[in-house]
Amino acid sequence: MGKINKIAVMTSGGDSPGMNAAIRSVVRTCAYYSKECIGVYRGYQGMIEGDFTTLTARNINNIINKGGTILKSARSDEFRTPEGRKKAFKQLKDNNIDGLVVIGGDGSFTGGVVFNKEYNFPVIGIPGTIDNDIFGTSHTIGYDTALNTAVDAIDKIRDTASSHNRLFFVEVMGRDAGFIALNAGVGAGAEEILIPEENLGLDRLLESLVKSRKSGKSSSIVVVAEGDKSGKNVFELAEYVEENMPEYDVRVSVLGHMQRGGTPSCFDRVLASRLGVKAIEMIIENKTNLMIGLKNNTVITTDLEEAITGGHEINKELLRVSDIMST
Ligand code: ATP
Repeated sequence: MGKINKIAVMTSGGDSPGMNAAIRSVVRTCAYYSKECIGVYRGYQGMIEGDFTTLTARNINNIINKGGTILKSARSDEFRTPEGRKKAFKQLKDNNIDGLVVIGGDGSFTGGVVFNKEYNFPVIGIPGTIDNDIFGTSHTIGYDTALNTAVDAIDKIRDTASSHNRLFFVEVMGRDAGFIALNAGVGAGAEEILIPEENLGLDRLLESLVKSRKSGKSSSIVVVAEGDKSGKNVFELAEYVEENMPEYDVRVSVLGHMQRGGTPSCFDRVLASRLGVKAIEMIIENKTNLMIGLKNNTVITTDLEEAITGGHEINKELLRVSDIMST
């Protein structure tokens, strides 16, 4: 690999709060090291179409506090094809771009790895997803903000639940990972938490709700991750409990996309700033196929392929805390 002079940055896959702070960090670090920075709009699709913009330290002012991504995000089926990636490579070469920083989730990293293998093009990943389902980092950018949004919403639901003796099923995001459900559930004092990693079983859910009722609780909150293993969606779960516990007035609330939006938390802004600096420093040093992450409050790098395949493990201790707290 030769000297790196011009670096492209893009956001890809699902957006998350703090992506703008990461873009800002990448751009300012490029300016600090006197490197040119190019923003790619709409992820890999924008790369294929050459939808580029020059980013300087000044034209990313006042974005650290903004949710979403100024570069937009997209999914691109064309980039999954060799023809699509060939077009993308040509666009990068025609614009004299020497390296790429991808802010996104594991799908976006997979695209980066495939592209690097085909064209030996330097790629560095920054984990930006609310799901926190990436190996090699304790936190992904956006996760902390999404958690706080979910807790805030559940607190409000609890006010109405306790006024009417209601049982609420609250669905939070997380198709494959229960991090938001487990942490928001414990943080908001949920009676039960249903996550994709653990099958609580419907009988145990009923037992637990009966126990909670007997212990004097007149209202309850059950937090359910989108991908819960019970085999029933949140509405079917509510129906099942209503049939078996007619004494409860059961309601469902799906938090949905509000969890992706909003002003990033201070934690996410600081995380994004730290990861962006390291990403540019790595690419300048001619390092490639790495993901920048955080472990024990230290910025570390992980092989990009390992970040994709390493899997994620739910914190068993937190599951135990949740069990004890619902006593
Ligand atoms: P989130 O975690 O929020 O879903 P993500 O980065 O995992 O984000 P994906 O939609 O899975 O989001 O991937 C984003 C894009 O990465 C895809 O639209 C596609 O363009 C590219 N991509 C994913 N997998 C591959 C692959 N195997 N080969 C080439 N490109 C890929």
